[in-house]
Amino acid sequence: MLIIGLTGGIGSGKSTVADYFGELGVPIIDADAVAREVVTPGSDALREITAHFGAEILNPDGTLNRGRLRGVVFRDTAQRGALEKIVHPRIYADLRRRIAALDAAYCVVVIPLLLETGQTGFVDRVLVVDSPEASQRSRVQARDGLSPEEIAAIMRSQAARQSRLAIADDLINNDGSLAELRQQTEALHQHYLRLAAAAEKTAPLLHDPRH
Ligand code: ATP
Repeated sequence: MLIIGLTGGIGSGKSTVADYFGELGVPIIDADAVAREVVTPGSDALREITAHFGAEILNPDGTLNRGRLRGVVFRDTAQRGALEKIVHPRIYADLRRRIAALDAAYCVVVIPLLLETGQTGFVDRVLVVDSPEASQRSRVQARDGLSPEEIAAIMRSQAARQSRLAIADDLINNDGSLAELRQQTEALHQHYLRLAAAAEKTAPLLHDPRH
């Protein structure tokens, strides 16, 4: 199956675009949701995280205190690497399982940090939702009520707009109305259906009856 990796900076419009694909009947897998699931209480990943970072990384109810963990790894690349070594293989294994269970021409995997995690090889095509940084800031401010400083810090920690554009196979410019965003999504949907159909024709038969 054709796998589209949907990515973009904070507030660029990824979730909105994913919703539009979903309305067109395309299966959507959210890597952030999978990332939360792999660290639920009782999971191997949470056990390893606790062994590495200490029990103070947990909430009193045994769930992961994400804010505290973020605080530890935010400026410490070695600690960030240790965390990624624990969670990334599990996230990608889970994503692969979910994709294998799908029956569709193509699917969209929303991976906000696709570039930052260096996993672009996981997908067949990278779709970047691009937005002027001023729009990202004002949307996130309106939605989450974060201060300009908090938003700037998050944007600094993410890949630069130009490096995201450099890895894009397909691009959605979210610098207009929601109606325009929907239109671009629908056009891409037709494009992906054509690509998936063409790939189907050239794919070798899995079970060739002559053998
Ligand atoms: P995050 O990375 O923070 O999860 P995101 O990239 O998924 O964000 P969305 O949640 O889709 O972004 O969009 C952020 C906010 O901006 C939402 O409230 C959404 O409705 C709004 N928004 C997105 N695009 C537009 C647009 N073109 N016009 C008006 N509002 C928009």
